[in-house]
Amino acid sequence: MVCSNWQSAGRRHLWMPYTQMKTAPPPLPVARTEGCEIILADGRRLLDAISSWWTVAHGYNHPVIVSRMKEQLERMPHVMLGGLLHEPASSLAARLAELLPGELNRVFFADSGSVAIEVALKIAVQFWFNQQQPGKSRFVSFENSYHGDTAGAMSVCDPEDSMHAHFKGFLLEQFPHPIPTSASEWATFRDFLANHVSCLAGVIIEPLVQAAGGMRFHSAGQLQQLRGIVSEFNLLLIVDEIATGFGRTGTMFAIEQAGVEPDLICLGKGLTGGSIGLAATVASDQIFEAFYQDEHSAALMHGPTFMGNPLACSAALASLDLFASEPRLEQARRLEQLFSERLQLLSSHPEVVDVRCLGGIAAIQFQRSVNKYAVMEMALMQNVWLRPLRDVIYLMPPLVVSEAQALRLCDVVSGVVNSPTSAWLID
Ligand SMILES: *Cc1c(COP(=O)(O)O)cnc(C)c1O
Repeated sequence: MVCSNWQSAGRRHLWMPYTQMKTAPPPLPVARTEGCEIILADGRRLLDAISSWWTVAHGYNHPVIVSRMKEQLERMPHVMLGGLLHEPASSLAARLAELLPGELNRVFFADSGSVAIEVALKIAVQFWFNQQQPGKSRFVSFENSYHGDTAGAMSVCDPEDSMHAHFKGFLLEQFPHPIPTSASEWATFRDFLANHVSCLAGVIIEPLVQAAGGMRFHSAGQLQQLRGIVSEFNLLLIVDEIATGFGRTGTMFAIEQAGVEPDLICLGKGLTGGSIGLAATVASDQIFEAFYQDEHSAALMHGPTFMGNPLACSAALASLDLFASEPRLEQARRLEQLFSERLQLLSSHPEVVDVRCLGGIAAIQFQRSVNKYAVMEMALMQNVWLRPLRDVIYLMPPLVVSEAQALRLCDVVSGVVNSPTSAWLID
């Protein structure tokens, strides 16, 4: 089908993400995508269990998104946002403000989630600077958190997993904590904030699900309690909904399940329904007002070249139309039910620590680390695209997978777990 030499030509020149290229299996050549499937150059059709890094909410190549992007492509694929306004960015900002709760009304666009996090951190620090409190510049973050790969974002990731050791001296030192559960942990956390409030700008958390850190869940109650304590010390709460946003947890945003309003929220991944890169940092009116002054120096000095790209914004608008017109959230909740019923059976396996499901996320955590490539190979044999994380095998398929496809994913995972552990667990 595909006969040029693009595969071998590029392989000598591409630098792959998160991969020790010397030992990893070579990447699989993809010809095209369709629905919930990735179609390889050799004709194999892989059911995508992980939605291309959790982005593809409506399935690949959704006709509503494709046709909207085609129209925009003809009219204007790009124009700078500095000093200019265009319909897609303007409509999308208004639409996001309407979707988000309360005072989250001011949208700053970026092109990747990591940059949206950088922007949130800068906004938080400058918020205090603009109010003559320049010392408030550090952040409390949480163990197992992942907020991106750029320097500021890495500084608030779990120090164990974001390779802080490699970058000591380069990364800012922040304050990672376990997410408190018991009354005594909350007391310790409160004491920490009380003792450090003068140097803190805010607290950053992935609400309900810490995704890349191993699909670790916490409760809506914990998120509410966190909001309470953060407000008590007059700090800013930044929520990173880059993974959880856009229906993944069964509500449009995870914060809705806790009724929590953050001061800043970061969006990305599913924002365009997985079609093209786009991210956003949305600030409350109160935050924005601290920047809205007569002095130029109070303005936010940030501006990615391609921010608010019209093509990406048009894709996001089409994706939001799909959320409005199709039962996507219901599909996510049905997936939760199906995954729970099917995968709970695995919890009695001696190597399984926990099976947990929320919306379109299912995670099985093991006592030991998973041999990622072995599991990927086992799934590939059954034409499923899966990619375990540390000690977790997880499913995060497009929200539109059929019941039969979802059952197939459960069967493949069950097949792996019930096979001899020596083949896929690391001692
Ligand atoms: C993926 C992710 C990011 C980083 O987004 P990129 O677009 O990869 O830069 C940040 N936070 C969370 C929670 C994520 O899942």
